[in-house]
Amino acid sequence: MTNIPNIELISGTTIPQLGFGVFQIPADDTAESVRTALDVGYRHIDTAQMYGNEVGVGVGIAKSGIAREDVFITTKLANDQHGYDNAVKALDGSLDRLGTSYVDLYLIHWPLAKKNLYVETWKAFEDLARSGKARAIGVSNFQPAHLEALVKAGTTTPAVNQIELHPALQQTELRAYHQDHGIITEAWSPLAQGEVLDEPALTEIAGKIGKTPAQVVLRWHLQHGNVIFPKSVTASRIEENRDIFDFELGGHEMAAIAGLDKGRRTGPDPDTFEG
Ligand code: NAD
Repeated sequence: MTNIPNIELISGTTIPQLGFGVFQIPADDTAESVRTALDVGYRHIDTAQMYGNEVGVGVGIAKSGIAREDVFITTKLANDQHGYDNAVKALDGSLDRLGTSYVDLYLIHWPLAKKNLYVETWKAFEDLARSGKARAIGVSNFQPAHLEALVKAGTTTPAVNQIELHPALQQTELRAYHQDHGIITEAWSPLAQGEVLDEPALTEIAGKIGKTPAQVVLRWHLQHGNVIFPKSVTASRIEENRDIFDFELGGHEMAAIAGLDKGRRTGPDPDTFEG
């Protein structure tokens, strides 16, 4: 099986470019799905306090027999836990549920600009990184204005910004901002929750190269340098989404997918979403 590439983070640690996302996987099914993913070679799991399935992630990893240090775990701070003390306590809760003494990446899930606590929360994250409980820290759903507020406060640069990103929402400006600041782009809903997969441009490319539209989209992300963690509860799809390292999209194919950008979100708008 082809190895999954690692990407270097500003924190000095590395992240596997392909992971497994567990949003909307019911708590009782999570351990089994995580185990299936680990069995076929995934070594990076993306969860969140708000997904309610951190326990299942921990159990799945424990049952896999794979050493903790060989799996990259991301979790995210719940929206009702912004503020310095809350954030520190919330990570302890996540660590308990995950059954581990550290996470590889801890993210502020949403900026919630009206609450105006994300800079204070980020200061807690910096201390959590110093304590070793979070090997790397980052943000999610931050727009340039939110990232600029962190810069102005003179704080550490986030290692990643996890944003909605797929062929229908290509986020060109935000990706350029990340590149200029050494922030790695993580793409959530990399398949637009399946919504883009019957686009003729994608089915045509897939037919030509003998891959599925999902594999084509995931490969497009890899070639842009995005970190991805598609979600599925179906074993054959978990395997299919892992099998994206033995082909390359050419310039014409990348351009055809670039043409699918509609600026269309499937999830909330971070400028207005308040949790
Ligand atoms: P996704 O784009 O990964 O789509 C998942 C859905 O696509 C599946 O439920 C299935 O219906 C379909 N699918 C998956 N593999 C397929 C295949 N090979 N062929 C056909 N259909 C397939 O959507 P997602 O789960 O929303 O996002 C992935 C991960 O991103 C989440 O699990 C979570 O970890 C993260 N996420 C983060 C945020 C955030 O605010 N930070 C928000 C949403 C998701």
